[in-house]
Amino acid sequence: MTLEDKLREYSAPAELCEKLADGDTRCLACAHKCVIPQGHSGVCKVRFNEDGRLKAPWGYISGCGMDPVEKKPFFHALPGALTLSFGMLGCNFQCSFCQNYLTSQVLRDPGCHIGELEPTTPEKLAAAAHGVGAPIIVSTYNEPLITAEWSTAVFKEARKLGIRGAYVSNGYASPEVLEYIRPHVDLYKVDLKTFSEENYRKVAGGTLGNVLKAIEMIHAKGFWLEIVTLLIPGFNDGAAELESLAGFISGVSKDIPWHITAFYPTYNMTDRGATPPATLLKAREIGVKKGLKYIYTGNIPGQGFEDTNCPSCGKTLVTRRGFRVLNNTIKITKKGQGLCSHCSTPIAGVWK
Ligand code: SF4
Repeated sequence: MTLEDKLREYSAPAELCEKLADGDTRCLACAHKCVIPQGHSGVCKVRFNEDGRLKAPWGYISGCGMDPVEKKPFFHALPGALTLSFGMLGCNFQCSFCQNYLTSQVLRDPGCHIGELEPTTPEKLAAAAHGVGAPIIVSTYNEPLITAEWSTAVFKEARKLGIRGAYVSNGYASPEVLEYIRPHVDLYKVDLKTFSEENYRKVAGGTLGNVLKAIEMIHAKGFWLEIVTLLIPGFNDGAAELESLAGFISGVSKDIPWHITAFYPTYNMTDRGATPPATLLKAREIGVKKGLKYIYTGNIPGQGFEDTNCPSCGKTLVTRRGFRVLNNTIKITKKGQGLCSHCSTPIAGVWK
């Protein structure tokens, strides 16, 4: 039995879909919007058409872990909070530099091996998060959009226990999936991988335009949004590209935190070295020039670019070392708004 066959045992009728003529279905869970004939699966290989009905992943996890929220990374959402993260299998992209390729690419790449899948229920996952005192539960490790019905069921249970839902995603979202998950997801992290249409098509198998549209929608719909760009030498680290990328984020909102992280050779991208710290600093300067208020370069310890500073008075409000929060002086109003403890400037984020 292939893994794809085995996964079909862990499935349930999909909600994000529409029926077409001749038993075909259109999946609406991501911007690919695959039209899937009977007996076939979509680009992600985990959503499939069985007798004219679309089926979606359900009832298992491939991994589960507890991390500080900073590791996701969210820096403007309950600093220092513990999260419970879970993942399934598969992805709608096929990035050669994927850091989670063992789970994301296992359906395409026979070189990827995983352990046993763990059967579970939304109630059990929510109870596990509650049991360890995690105020946030995160769908991550593989692309959450392709398993949106499952994570929504988990988040619904978690919400009953006062726990917030979060997505760690490539942002290749359709308008329909964002509408569907919005009541249950508070925090949304998008990997904006490059600002080159050609690179998005070649390396990820998607389009830049769809990711940009999704970022605009995620912000407009009121998810708390943070953006990450993995800076890869010779791929996305040109000044002109970074200016366009930072300019785009700034145009959506200068309050969106931008995390610039260093690449290390991995998976199928081993033809280049790690990102030099100078490249991260250059990108940071570009972001500052474009007016972004919160830019983080977490991989340069001791530089202070992992701290949250007030954009008005410049004082440090949250001090971090790696993923640890050493100090947090953000004032929180009764309505949950964050303020600088020195000059009372509003600090965007989810603080309460
Ligand atoms: S989630 Fe995306 S890739 Fe998968 S079947 Fe649906 S539209 Fe296609």
